[in-house]
Amino acid sequence: MKKILLAVLAMASVCMSAWSAEKSFSSPNGKLTVTVDDANGVFTYRVTLDGAEFIARSPLGLKTNIGDFTKDLTLSACEVKNVKEQYQLRNIKQSNVNYEATEAVCTMEQGGKKVMDVVFRVSNRDVAYRYTLYPKGQTLVAVIEGEASGFQLPKGTTTFLCPQSRPMGGFARTSPSYETSYTLDDQMGKNGWGEGYSFPCLFKVPLNGEGGLVIGIGQSDADGGSAIRIKANNQVGWVLISETGVDGKYVASRLLNTQDGLYQIGFPQQGECNGFGSTSAMVALPCATPWRTITVGTTLANIVETTVPFDLVEQKYKASQEYIYGKGSWSWIIGMDSSCNFDEQKRYIDFSAAMGYQTVLIDALWDKQIGYEKMAELAAYGKSKGVGLFLWYNSNGTWNDAPQSPIGKMDKSRERRAEMAWMKSIGIRGIKVDFFGGDKQNMMQLYEDILSDANDFGILVIFHGCTLPRGWEKMYPNYAASEAVLASENLHFGQGACDAEARNATIHTFIRNTVGSMDFGGSTLNKFYNADNKRGTHRVTSDVYALATAVLFQSAVQHFALAPNNLTDAPAWAIDFMKNVPTTWDEVKFIDGYPGKYAIIARRTGNKWFVVGINAEDATLKKTISLPMFDKGAELEMYSDDAELNGSVSTIKAKKQITVTIPKNGGLVIVNK
Ligand code: CA
Repeated sequence: MKKILLAVLAMASVCMSAWSAEKSFSSPNGKLTVTVDDANGVFTYRVTLDGAEFIARSPLGLKTNIGDFTKDLTLSACEVKNVKEQYQLRNIKQSNVNYEATEAVCTMEQGGKKVMDVVFRVSNRDVAYRYTLYPKGQTLVAVIEGEASGFQLPKGTTTFLCPQSRPMGGFARTSPSYETSYTLDDQMGKNGWGEGYSFPCLFKVPLNGEGGLVIGIGQSDADGGSAIRIKANNQVGWVLISETGVDGKYVASRLLNTQDGLYQIGFPQQGECNGFGSTSAMVALPCATPWRTITVGTTLANIVETTVPFDLVEQKYKASQEYIYGKGSWSWIIGMDSSCNFDEQKRYIDFSAAMGYQTVLIDALWDKQIGYEKMAELAAYGKSKGVGLFLWYNSNGTWNDAPQSPIGKMDKSRERRAEMAWMKSIGIRGIKVDFFGGDKQNMMQLYEDILSDANDFGILVIFHGCTLPRGWEKMYPNYAASEAVLASENLHFGQGACDAEARNATIHTFIRNTVGSMDFGGSTLNKFYNADNKRGTHRVTSDVYALATAVLFQSAVQHFALAPNNLTDAPAWAIDFMKNVPTTWDEVKFIDGYPGKYAIIARRTGNKWFVVGINAEDATLKKTISLPMFDKGAELEMYSDDAELNGSVSTIKAKKQITVTIPKNGGLVIVNK
């Protein structure tokens, strides 16, 4: 009986596929190809690079309260065109982007009526798609309850993921806040802690055939059987899945492992935001959903270098002024809450001035420990020293128990704007807003409202205890950075985080920080996370490591975990480097690395290249790397560590290839003079 049924099903699928429409379109260089079809009424896509399958046939579609657009679909048209755009952004990994892609607008019908488009963009390194949902008769609004949007990874794929935390857990019931640990090279088929994974999500796909990957032999290969260009010798492919363009018009999502290698878009959890608000998205029609992005490559270069989070989004409002990014200091990471007092902040203003830094970030409780009147005095003092202030705020509200103040100032427009008007009157440079309530649409609207109000008052915004930024550097010109990572605070809180510091940094380089500015607050030069520099958790990483991560971690606004005592107790070469290190970049290049093991990348500003490396593995890393960015014979400054992690600076001459060594927890920086 079972056999007969299978035979009937097989025949049915043959019949259906005979009617189904299949379409393929490729990147400008022809190597990255998306193939879509509507067999059995389900709209699916798959992705190949050089003929090798990176995403197997995966479902598309929307579930809404005006219709189920995941089935009974017919592909009626697929219009393909080329897109070329050029834009400048000073606050991302690359200042000047020439974006080129193939756009395919695939129109879906249901019952003979056009219901939605699935819009694809295929650049040379990324595939992205989103939906445009159309009005249905007089129905001009809809609730999107979920997406079928899936990503079927090939058999044998391993995962590099951090779990989405359950709602209303952790410190003062503030989760989820994108602060969980990664598992590396793990098998598929798990679902984190039961709630899927936070974006971005990294996968390693086997290209040797043994993992069951079908290399496109003999399949409609337009240029004559060149599909087997990827050789069958244990090569791997990398896939980074994320989303971009999320604002108050939608929810932020996560990735759920729904079966085997199939991962699908998950909407927020009901318990987020103290259970208040829907997990669905409420939209006006026609509506364009956020982009689902897939960055692929046979090395991690495309993932480190991708600009897809920014390529696909538009600026939402004009900057009210030219914002000043740059460096600052921050007492809280070493001195904690009690350091947020007038005298200590004055000392940090002097320290920032001595470093040539633009800002001081004053963390929680300043309203009680300094007060509004004295803050005006402090801001004036800062101004006299050329140092602007960032002030911490609690985002609350009503969505968690985080008690730190100022509180109740950022969640409602009237109070928020009054507070920002006061900030403007005393010349506050920016805010750091903490402890958000999850990814529901109401919370995404709050992020947007804080940003747009702050722009009216010329204020930069850093988010903490928050969601991942999703294209926000381009969408919101006064957006500075987000935490959305187990950041430097954990180095103060526990020795375990210190011991794993280098391991985690090699992960962020290839995952979290590839899609958006990361406010880590690191580059500590204290030996201990305590103001006396004698007690507390202790740093196991080297001074050169601290310098390397100042470049490795990208954020246009950086508040480093340096302390005034470092002017005298840290090596002069380290302080000099930290005085001069840029925070805005023109270009990034992947050189070598592996998540959890080591990372070597290069960033450029003007004609100056910073090649930086770190190593988390027990064995000293010894690598011969090509550095084509330096002219042969050019004088280079090299900061490196000996086996005991004692750092030094030497001058070397640029060669075609250089052999570098980085001991465990050590670092490397090479800069042209
Ligand atoms: Ca945090």
